[in-house]
Amino acid sequence: MLIVMKQGVTEAEVAEVVERVTAMGLRAHPIPGSLRTAIGVTGNQGPLEAALFELMPGVLRAIAVTQPFKLVSREVRHDDTVIKVGERQIGGGVFAVIAGPCAVETEQQTIGIAQRVAAAGAHFLRGGAFKPRTSPYSFQGLEEKGLRILVKAREETGLPIVTEVLDTDTVDLVAEHADVLQIGARNMQNYSLLKRVGRIRRPVLLKRGMSATVDELLMSAEYIAAEGNYSICLCERGVRTFSNHTRNTLDLSAVPAVKSLSHLPIIVDPSHGTGKRDKVIPMARAAAAAGADGLMVEVHANPDRALSDGPQALLPDQFDTMMREVRAIAALVGRTL
Ligand code: PEP
Ligand code: MN
Repeated sequence: MLIVMKQGVTEAEVAEVVERVTAMGLRAHPIPGSLRTAIGVTGNQGPLEAALFELMPGVLRAIAVTQPFKLVSREVRHDDTVIKVGERQIGGGVFAVIAGPCAVETEQQTIGIAQRVAAAGAHFLRGGAFKPRTSPYSFQGLEEKGLRILVKAREETGLPIVTEVLDTDTVDLVAEHADVLQIGARNMQNYSLLKRVGRIRRPVLLKRGMSATVDELLMSAEYIAAEGNYSICLCERGVRTFSNHTRNTLDLSAVPAVKSLSHLPIIVDPSHGTGKRDKVIPMARAAAAAGADGLMVEVHANPDRALSDGPQALLPDQFDTMMREVRAIAALVGRTL
């Protein structure tokens, strides 16, 4: 249920509603809006009686939310969510570019790429320290050492860090170092992990599972929000289809679909979405044109030697070109880069 408060409501009136919701054994999620505050209610098994709240001071109306995902739906919050990370932001008209290697390999490699993408105008540094690999014999990441390298790269460049958290055991460790916690495609429906990151105060980048629908992606985001963490950015990274000219089929129509269903920002990952370097820039341009709030792109100075995902990594010069082209397209759809 969504309890919409009147304009000019007092803090005490909001607190009273929150108290009543909590006393019923439910959870209240105050949602400040540009016009008025609303309070999302979760935890109820069946429908709630609107009159329970509508007679309280300051309450305009109480309405049932029809979507199965509640807190992340447009029904509950009309205004776009903007994620702030220090001076940077994702959403709210800012097109955010997250760039860096697939995996942190060495300090020199990571800092070198970080400096290069920062100079080209990237806003965040990506790089996996814990890698979810198809084969147990492939490089699994430098783990804690990798996190420390990312911190050094942040100190050198000022770029906030986006890095993957693979399991519940390492959430605290990764959160100590990273600015944004990435939940990978393979973990999109790892509900204990989603609940765990829902209980910490770090923005989460939630990637779409490789065979997940948009509704399922939003339900996974709801798991995080239901625990009280509302700083969630979604990421379209391609889904499995019969097509085999690319690694995955990048589903760009997920961008306008999410925009109408949810207030959360959505970015696009054309690297995993195509798996092929020559297709990354065209799909990055298309993502900007489709109205995405940003990109996640893999860049490597020597992709032939990369320990993971070399074939899809852009060379630094190609990243410069991508930034130039995407900047022009983003401006056409009201985004600044
Ligand atoms: C990644 O971003 O490094 C990654 C493993 O992506 P995905 O979870 O989308 O496969
Ligand atoms: Mn990768």
